[in-house]
Amino acid sequence: MAEHGAASASRAHAHASEESAMATIVSYTDREPAANRYPHRIVSPCRPGPCCFTDMEEVGTAQPEGHWEFQYRRCRRCGFTVRVILREIPDFALAAELRQILADSFVRNVPDL
Ligand SMILES: [Zn+2]
Repeated sequence: MAEHGAASASRAHAHASEESAMATIVSYTDREPAANRYPHRIVSPCRPGPCCFTDMEEVGTAQPEGHWEFQYRRCRRCGFTVRVILREIPDFALAAELRQILADSFVRNVPDL
């Protein structure tokens, strides 16, 4: 279990900067002390430390957002937080809509004989 957590944390670190453009409650700053005010705001140091690979704990519950289900993981020691993507949510509504659009365009493309 501990090994699994560490692996997830290291993967998440690689994506932390890419994800900063997405909606997130995590503020990465070294100017404020780390704080956990989940679900409103989490203040995280800009960089993870060696402690983050062993002391990450889950914060809150898994949250769906768009096509993804994610969860925050926060280091017990330094407060470094990442948002970990747990899985992609299959979007049945969107799939149905796409099928309808395809069906409609096929109908429109049928030559008028
Ligand atoms: Zn840490």
